[in-house]
Amino acid sequence: MLLYKKTAAELSKMLRNRECSSVEICNSFLDRIKQNEKNTEAYITICDDIIDKAKEIDKMLALGEKLHALAGIPIALKDNISTKGIRTTCASKMLQNYIPPYDAYVVKKLKDAGMIITGKLNMDEFAMGSSTETSYFKKTHNPYDPDYVPGGSSGGCAAAVISGEAVLSLGSDTGGSIRQPAAFCGAVGFKPTYGSVSRYGLIAFASSLDQIGTICRDVSDTALLYNLICGYDKMDATSARREYPNFYSRLSDCNINGMRIGIPFEYFKENVSEEVIQNILNAIELLKYIGAEIYEISLPSTKYAVNAYYIISSAEASSNLARYDGVRYGYRTKNYNNLSDMYTKTRSEGFGDEVKRRIMLGNFVLSSGYYDKYYKKASDIRLMIKYEFNNAFKECDIIITPTYPTSAFKFGEHKDNLTKLYNNDIFTVPASLAGIPSISIPCGYSSKGLPIAMQIMGKNFSEMTLLKVAYAFEKLYGKPERME
Ligand code: GLN
Repeated sequence: MLLYKKTAAELSKMLRNRECSSVEICNSFLDRIKQNEKNTEAYITICDDIIDKAKEIDKMLALGEKLHALAGIPIALKDNISTKGIRTTCASKMLQNYIPPYDAYVVKKLKDAGMIITGKLNMDEFAMGSSTETSYFKKTHNPYDPDYVPGGSSGGCAAAVISGEAVLSLGSDTGGSIRQPAAFCGAVGFKPTYGSVSRYGLIAFASSLDQIGTICRDVSDTALLYNLICGYDKMDATSARREYPNFYSRLSDCNINGMRIGIPFEYFKENVSEEVIQNILNAIELLKYIGAEIYEISLPSTKYAVNAYYIISSAEASSNLARYDGVRYGYRTKNYNNLSDMYTKTRSEGFGDEVKRRIMLGNFVLSSGYYDKYYKKASDIRLMIKYEFNNAFKECDIIITPTYPTSAFKFGEHKDNLTKLYNNDIFTVPASLAGIPSISIPCGYSSKGLPIAMQIMGKNFSEMTLLKVAYAFEKLYGKPERME
């Protein structure tokens, strides 16, 4: 039996029953990485102390110490989550050699629970993109077909989890970067409510939208991992101060009889592939079969969401990325004449095209004369979107849409039409702008055999409801295996 094919929940049980050791689990994943990484190219950095850490956990388990359910389980992280002593690059030349002096809040949580970090995963540069094509280092490949992108920006996470190179992963989602790669690779991608997981130590892209979340193989693992990372943190000013239930243990009660599901059918038309629509409709039929009630809802401001998202996220990025000036962190140009020349050359050489495009757009929409015309208007649209969601959630408990208008696309497919690529974020950015939780789960395959996914959104802090619906669906529909 191959350990790397198992879920975290299964491995955790086996560990406690002494059917395997943490060293054996870690070795199984390391072997898999050795064998398969040349096809996937998911990792930027692989840690060298994995087996030592696993031995420590095995020793504690042998002594009968009471450890967290996830102790001894390996996990991989998107390379924008700060890890003390482990290079954290954001897939950028700018941070190519940056070693953080501290751990992100979530990393501390993982370590305290005895989890073992296997390494740092590829992504789009500074989380800007939908394919990992903007990474300075490499392109990650879709485990279902290497000619296709794994999605992005957390493409390394989704590809590693589905190809069996990671049991679990943490990614970040600003406008869909967890949900979209999960959809392209057939994984479960979960973006919780803004403020429920601390952003302390997550390298900022757009702070009012950035959210750490999980990419796992199934819903149980999602609940198990989310249990561990949610919670109040005084180091993040936007962290929510509240109590959270035990999501994992409550999953088994997943009766969704009478659950009201809202569907904004108006968005199922333009630019959404027939196959995606068909698979979502089939999934809705399954949910109806187990007792859900379907309502048609309207979210009229969604049509402005992509524009508002790119204005707001670029504005915040232009400010957040001002810190990379060659003085404080990361890359500095070799030859320069004076300070201003040093700044210019450092930033011109250190950032890739997509990052530069966003910084320029951000500076433009914040500049005097254009602020009201663009930034202010985008902020107003954001409020309208929130308001419409609030109203919709009076009529329904959850909202279902496709996660993405198509299945995975080929490398290079969008290089001449970025607007089209941006517009494809239509289903994921509304939840980001509103701050509400959202989960993407596999619900079918395209004619090319690539995964298709649906997105389930709920009101703020309704994570338990989302996980229950997702779990109920998964039980009926099944979950994809890890790759051979
Ligand atoms: N595709 C979106 C973008 O490029 C997603 C980014 C994200 O969520 N980090 O901005």
